[in-house]
Amino acid sequence: MKLYNLKDNSEQVSFSQAVKQGLGKQQGLFFPQDLPEFSQAEIDELLKLDFVTRSSRILTAFIGDEIPEAELAARVKAAFAFPAPVTPVEADVATLELYHGPTLAFKDFGGRFMAQALAQVAGEQPVTILTATSGDTGAAVAHAFYRLNNVQVVILYPEGKISPLQEKLFCTLGENIHTVAIKDDFDACQSLVKQAFDDEELKKALHLNSANSINISRLLAQICYYFEAVAQIPAEKRDQLVISVPSGNFGDLTAGLLAKAMGLPVKRFIAATNVNDTVPRFLEEGEWKPHQTVATLSNAMDVSQPNNWPRIEELFRRKGWSLSELGHGVVNDDVTKETVKELDKKGYVSEPHAAVAYRILRDQLQDGEYGLFLGTAHPAKFKESVEAILGKQLPLPAELAERADLPLLSHFLPADFAQLRTFLMERTVK
Ligand SMILES: *Cc1c(COP(=O)(O)O)cnc(C)c1O
Repeated sequence: MKLYNLKDNSEQVSFSQAVKQGLGKQQGLFFPQDLPEFSQAEIDELLKLDFVTRSSRILTAFIGDEIPEAELAARVKAAFAFPAPVTPVEADVATLELYHGPTLAFKDFGGRFMAQALAQVAGEQPVTILTATSGDTGAAVAHAFYRLNNVQVVILYPEGKISPLQEKLFCTLGENIHTVAIKDDFDACQSLVKQAFDDEELKKALHLNSANSINISRLLAQICYYFEAVAQIPAEKRDQLVISVPSGNFGDLTAGLLAKAMGLPVKRFIAATNVNDTVPRFLEEGEWKPHQTVATLSNAMDVSQPNNWPRIEELFRRKGWSLSELGHGVVNDDVTKETVKELDKKGYVSEPHAAVAYRILRDQLQDGEYGLFLGTAHPAKFKESVEAILGKQLPLPAELAERADLPLLSHFLPADFAQLRTFLMERTVK
């Protein structure tokens, strides 16, 4: 597989390099040189396969012979160890539930495949993943890399500033997962990570990697569940399918559009955002004018400079598609709350991110069309806000309940780089 840097097309890398590097020069994103396409007959055959087998075929179409097919299949099987069910909500609307993984959000798919891809391309060389988290990312990264050979993971988080349950989710694993509570805030944690990456000697000794969120391996993994969704939708509805994607950094939508580019039948995509609406305004007015980011109920979408957008523009350019074909809409917190209630009345307990996507889908869906909105997180992940909106208690899902009584294994350090450095050298260099 060949990829090029969107900021400097002369920088070309293999899949392995792109996975290890994350970003190219000038912080440019990598984009695939070849966009594989399946014929209608091939798509029909693919849709008959099980999730893991089909996903291996889709990923092989991109990655080619850089990873032997049998090895890739084993990696996919390890990463996608949980289902992505389509659940009907109304006669003409269903949701794709992407929250049945260990950390209850769709980021488990991309995170776990990235972990497998990194372990594969690093080969026998030990690597250390160092990252800072304010909650969610740390949990996904920890679970994704847990027990992988030759990978040590160090996660810094601000002591006392993440929810106790959130902390239990990733600080009770142990083995190759080292969690460090820093006596300071999230910015201090990020600054320590940055200092570590600036320390060439440390970087070399530990083979430091950041497991960056814009890593191409994440996007490729996310393409697979769009195929899985279509496979579960009645065949006669497939050519009328409209998919609404709750968007923050626009990775999820990029993956959906790549699936369409491969030949998956999707009539239209909708970019659904909260009031952090840089993209919908851009699509309406043609001007890219990010505002100050605003805190909302759908906080994983509180992004005003979505970092995957250049990939979407490149894809539209390459395919000769027009951005005017991309559906879009914006929902504020009041409407989000009303929509969570409305969905509950229909018998579906949702959460703010999915509710944003549902609202816009419902408002824009036309007669004869079939709508699908992505359920990006388990409602219990946003327990406080959902319980406040619905005025009822949500049960704790097994993934959280089973960790709630385990002892915390975190280490405690002040926000002092010298001490962190000593810790890193002792814990991770074997
Ligand atoms: C990350 C996230 C999103 C936004 O996804 P992007 O790929 O960044 O657009 C939406 N919902 C939830 C629950 C998330 O965690």
